[in-house]
Amino acid sequence: MTDRVAKGNRVVIAVDGPAGAGKGAVCRAVARELGLAYLETGAIYRALGLLTVREALADAQIVARATSMPFAYRAQDGGNFRAWLADEDVTEALRAETIGQAASRIAAMPAVRQALLSFQRLYGGQSHLILDGRDVGTIVWPDADLKIFLTASLQERASRRVRELQGMGKNASFSEVYAAMAERDHRDAGRSTAPLQAAEDAVLVDTTTLTLEESIKQVLHLVKNTLNQAEFTCRESLAGSR
Ligand code: C5P
Repeated sequence: MTDRVAKGNRVVIAVDGPAGAGKGAVCRAVARELGLAYLETGAIYRALGLLTVREALADAQIVARATSMPFAYRAQDGGNFRAWLADEDVTEALRAETIGQAASRIAAMPAVRQALLSFQRLYGGQSHLILDGRDVGTIVWPDADLKIFLTASLQERASRRVRELQGMGKNASFSEVYAAMAERDHRDAGRSTAPLQAAEDAVLVDTTTLTLEESIKQVLHLVKNTLNQAEFTCRESLAGSR
């Protein structure tokens, strides 16, 4: 690939996996704990999905909107991460199931994926970065220092989502959530461009029987090792150049 962005001295941690595996919660906690930049790439696809629904965009218009959308993803005081479209905080709006489905449909369009690549590669400047999505270890950052495939059974992921919705005071039927998640899994894994799949060199973390705290602990351990290794390699090459 000729359009890769040089990684420089930054450490990049790529976390992929299906919907509801806990990628966001785990990556946010790791980013906060270790002071890394964090990008939830699904938010970019969801933001474009939101614009597509709001503006009733036709396919041809979606690609143009992908290049011009005023999307920003920022950490706030207290370590919360918020998604913005211009000056509108869309963090909550992006979580709607309809927007997740819209995101998954437009994410299957190769030209859309291409248009969103450079944002994902330039994000965070020279800071160490953790990012999560479906193709961040295979397409966006194939040179990532650490790749993790975070997954859980569909049954467990659907149960977590139902609990999350109930916690927000929303009515949630297990069978509907399960069916919607299965449909999104199928579309994300079955598309021809950048399908959801584990990179060959990814470490598999199955969270089916783990609590959130246990999942965070496992990923923290892997990330700390990678950061220590990078520091060690950097020190060795500095010593070698003296
Ligand atoms: O991760 P999240 O569930 O928020 O992503 C929403 C949708 O965006 C996914 O179902 C997927 O289709 C798409 N997506 C993608 N590639 C990424 C991140 C998300 O195709 N790197």
